[in-house]
Amino acid sequence: MKSALLIDDDNISRKVLSQALMAAGWSVIEAGDGEQGIQLALKHRIDAVICDLLMPRCNGFQVCRMLRDKPEQFPGLKIIVTTHRGFATDRLNALESGADHYLVKPVLASEVLALLNSPTPKSSTPAPISGTPTPAAHMPAGNLLRFWGVRGSIPTPGPGTVFYGGNTTCVEMRVDGQLIVLDSGSGIRLLGNQLAAEFKGQALELTLLLSHTHWDHIQGFPFFAPAYVASNQMRIIGFEGYRKGLESTLAVQMESTYFPVDLRQMPSSISFLEQREMDFHIGPVRVRSIFVNHPGVTVGYRLDTSTGSCAFLPDHESYARMRLHPRASGEKGQQTMDYCRAEDQKLIEFLRDVDVLILDSQYDEAEYQTHIGWGHSCYEDTVATALAAKAKQLFLFHHDPLHDDARVSRMVGHARELVASHRGNLVVEAAREGLTVPLRKPEPT
Ligand SMILES: [Zn+2]
Ligand SMILES: [Zn+2]
Repeated sequence: MKSALLIDDDNISRKVLSQALMAAGWSVIEAGDGEQGIQLALKHRIDAVICDLLMPRCNGFQVCRMLRDKPEQFPGLKIIVTTHRGFATDRLNALESGADHYLVKPVLASEVLALLNSPTPKSSTPAPISGTPTPAAHMPAGNLLRFWGVRGSIPTPGPGTVFYGGNTTCVEMRVDGQLIVLDSGSGIRLLGNQLAAEFKGQALELTLLLSHTHWDHIQGFPFFAPAYVASNQMRIIGFEGYRKGLESTLAVQMESTYFPVDLRQMPSSISFLEQREMDFHIGPVRVRSIFVNHPGVTVGYRLDTSTGSCAFLPDHESYARMRLHPRASGEKGQQTMDYCRAEDQKLIEFLRDVDVLILDSQYDEAEYQTHIGWGHSCYEDTVATALAAKAKQLFLFHHDPLHDDARVSRMVGHARELVASHRGNLVVEAAREGLTVPLRKPEPT
């Protein structure tokens, strides 16, 4: 006798279907939510699962993924997802999560039986989900980083930002076999499209490192195509948010009031790590973190790879500059300034000899006067920091939404003059969308 597991928190529709299946000669097991359903599936031999999409504790996408993750335990298992919602994206996501069929309620027992008795369509055979994808195998040789979003605060499309780009913060790193994404501003949408086209059909494993959860650093995530592919695995690492945990902060921007797909409905395997250690590894890549001067809990990262280092500090305001200004603080005592200078020095040591430095340069010195305490730097300070740290290459970053291409270019020109006046070797550029920067050890001279 064939056995079916019915998972649905709607008791009435579950009972009706259960009776019809038993009348047709099936043995039936019932569960009132996804969690219980998974437990029962692991205990009993089952041939088919009919599972509701939205249930307490564990949704239908998760049930599908969990069952498909154990092909050896559930060979030939047929999964039918049922729902009262007819959204095309739900259907697609359910099939990508491993469902064979998707039925919109009310579901007739006859149509369920017809599907159960039909051979499993070849196309719905679940793609193998690799437990340990090996990105190194399908990543081009050579470490590099690429800018996908360079703007601060809000996306600024338009003719004035065509050269440097209008998307908010996102940088891709392909280093030592690891795919690491720094922040998920609107630029991550373009990265996602690129990855989808490049790694079609291959399971992707990537790590998203978040500097903080201000909107311009997370707003692109709901549009990140790889998050909608069941076989992909992504790990999101950040430091605990100001009020809420990392996961709930990202989930809030995808609540139904704001976005049609819930974070938990994204079919890929997404895990969250609220990092507490300042020094950790992503594969062979050493990652060091530092808290920076910006509202909320914000960090900068330094990644040391086999062929060079990169530091990413998209949002930061010089401590001393902020305190020097009389309007910023009533504390003018020597102790306060000593403390601020020590903090600035700590950052310089953190950045010591870095090869590629991506650093907040939102304002110029004059603009800064009206933006003290906003958590961003003027490029004059950025250049000074990079020179003091003996960085090799500096990318001005987090461009102000009010700055058009001509303005950013003028800032770069002046930044280079500053370097020349200090007889420095620092190479200065402004980050721009699409720019690829190789990370390689300098040729011996
Ligand atoms: Zn920002
Ligand atoms: Zn911010």
